Amino acid sequence: MKIVSTIAELKKALASTRQQKRSVGFVPTMGALHEGHEALLAQAVSENDVTVLSIFVNPTQFAPNEDYSRYPRTFDEDCLRAQRAGVDVVFAPTPEVIYPQGWSTYIDVENVSEGLCGRFRPGHFRGVATVVYRLFRLVQPKRAYFGQKDLQQCLVIGRMVRDLRLPVQVIACPTVREKDGLALSSRNRYLSAEERAKAAVIPKALEAVGREFERGNRSVEALVASAKKVLSTVPEFELQYAEIRALPNLDPIRKIEGPATFAIAGYLGKTRLIDNTILEA
Ligand code: AMP
Repeated sequence: MKIVSTIAELKKALASTRQQKRSVGFVPTMGALHEGHEALLAQAVSENDVTVLSIFVNPTQFAPNEDYSRYPRTFDEDCLRAQRAGVDVVFAPTPEVIYPQGWSTYIDVENVSEGLCGRFRPGHFRGVATVVYRLFRLVQPKRAYFGQKDLQQCLVIGRMVRDLRLPVQVIACPTVREKDGLALSSRNRYLSAEERAKAAVIPKALEAVGREFERGNRSVEALVASAKKVLSTVPEFELQYAEIRALPNLDPIRKIEGPATFAIAGYLGKTRLIDNTILEA
């Protein structure tokens, strides 16, 4: 496994792959790898000749009041996990490599990035779309793997790829969860033991909505109310949103008549957690 941090090194590491026209699978991450990332890597390794993992805590997707500087950085352990997963190249650039001095260009994906997390994290998806575009250009993958846990992110990237006709296939992979249902996240390590136990209320709320939906309930108001009832059992969970939106554009709806998602975001203490489930008849 090669570990590279500059564009020249990345080019060199991928030169023979390009010459031989071998397929590149790409998994962009911010590091602090866990089994959720490992599942994306496993799929990339199984479907491509060469797998590239990027580790880059992207400053442009964090607002000034967010956790950019304290975001967990566990580079050595990440490389061990990457090696075990069968990764060929780890690309770990510095911010100066991705955004050379004077950088002024950003990608704004309208509509799909505006509700849900977009409402609470202005500029977040602009930073995400910009860095993913930049990484796609550098890595030139045939396939790129994203987690359904960050569903809005998957949809924003999907829209960007379609609009700009980028020659890459975006693949959304299922969310990997802990035993109690909590979605794995690099941010879970911020949680105290007490907060960690309380965080299970999020998957419980998703499950409640899933059950109601399975029973035939299609009223958005009623389904969201069933989730809020569950969430209210943990008053420490500071809800930002619990919303049902139509897929794939995340338009607001009152009744579920096609594929939809129920998504939650909120704070437990200082830690922001998100999760979602897909509702499909
Ligand atoms: P991050 O490092 O948090 O930016 O995540 C990198 C990629 O891993 C993104 O595509 C995430 O959606 C994905 N990911 C994060 N957590 C999980 C999880 N629990 N299951 C599956 N994929 C995940």
